[in-house]
Amino acid sequence: MAKPKVAFYWCASCGGCEETVVDLAEDILGVVEKLDIVLWPVAMDFKYKDVEAMPDGSILATLLNGAIRSSEQEYMARLLRRKSRFLIAYGACAHTGGIPGLANQFPREQILEFVYESAPTNVNEQKIRPQCRFEENGRTPHLPEFRELVRSLDQVVDVDYCVPGCPPTPKITKAAVGALLDGRMPPKGSVLAPDIALCDQCPRKDSKPTNVAFVQFQRPVEKPLDMEKCFLAQGVVCMGPSTRSGCEAACITGNMPCTGCFAGTSRVHDQGAKMLSSLCANIEAKEEAGINKALTGIPDPVGTFYRYSLAKSTLRRKVNL
Ligand code: SF4
Ligand code: SF4
Repeated sequence: MAKPKVAFYWCASCGGCEETVVDLAEDILGVVEKLDIVLWPVAMDFKYKDVEAMPDGSILATLLNGAIRSSEQEYMARLLRRKSRFLIAYGACAHTGGIPGLANQFPREQILEFVYESAPTNVNEQKIRPQCRFEENGRTPHLPEFRELVRSLDQVVDVDYCVPGCPPTPKITKAAVGALLDGRMPPKGSVLAPDIALCDQCPRKDSKPTNVAFVQFQRPVEKPLDMEKCFLAQGVVCMGPSTRSGCEAACITGNMPCTGCFAGTSRVHDQGAKMLSSLCANIEAKEEAGINKALTGIPDPVGTFYRYSLAKSTLRRKVNL
């Protein structure tokens, strides 16, 4: 009997999600035994035309990681959507835009101008920029177009499930693949990780303050961190209260605060706004000077509160006025 087909694909991402698939270690052999991998550019030499030639719906599932920024990524997202029964947004960038989504703080033209013209490492006196199409020796090579915005996968095509994390852990990846193979997928739209806040599963939760009056926030590099005490009790921003669990508190165990890569639970509409409102309500000072002083310890608020979720946030982007 033919094995079910699965595809892995990456768009705007760093490659870490692909590492997780490799980190399945010997379990990958079990996956290969039961599934036929039909596309995995990072590891196997398939061509787009191989996928284009497949009947629509013939792939059981595509695990697509990375946000969508270029025309090529958009094309592949639409193609794999058509060819797959289940399209799974795999990892923070596909789920909520991830780190690439932070580029939505800058207009497209500003990014291109910096990268190709004014970056201090550039030598480009003629201000040449890549062209999407050009003629050369009778050929017309082309490059993908750089779109205006970074988008999460579900802002481009219909998505069946999300596996969160930067990257997702091997454990939740294995659980997702197992559910696929056993045909016991949850309702469409589910995020395949526990729907509870990270704090509820944190080994430091007993020291999490119920009443806290922040005087000054500090970054992890600015002070020695207690190995057992809740980061918030140490005046260090930890995104645990507004972040979904499922990572087994990976960063906390390494004595680093959570930066929010699993995104919010189903009850959190805007992960960054939720965290901001909870912290700001607990700043001791009530007058502007004292509030500003407390906030100097958070020099990059967007990167702190929306590190992985700006593309899916209420604000979504900065508009150049
Ligand atoms: S705020 Fe961070 S350190 Fe504190 S209990 Fe929540 S996840 Fe743990
Ligand atoms: S602790 Fe937070 S940032 Fe670290 S892996 Fe877990 S969800 Fe992601």
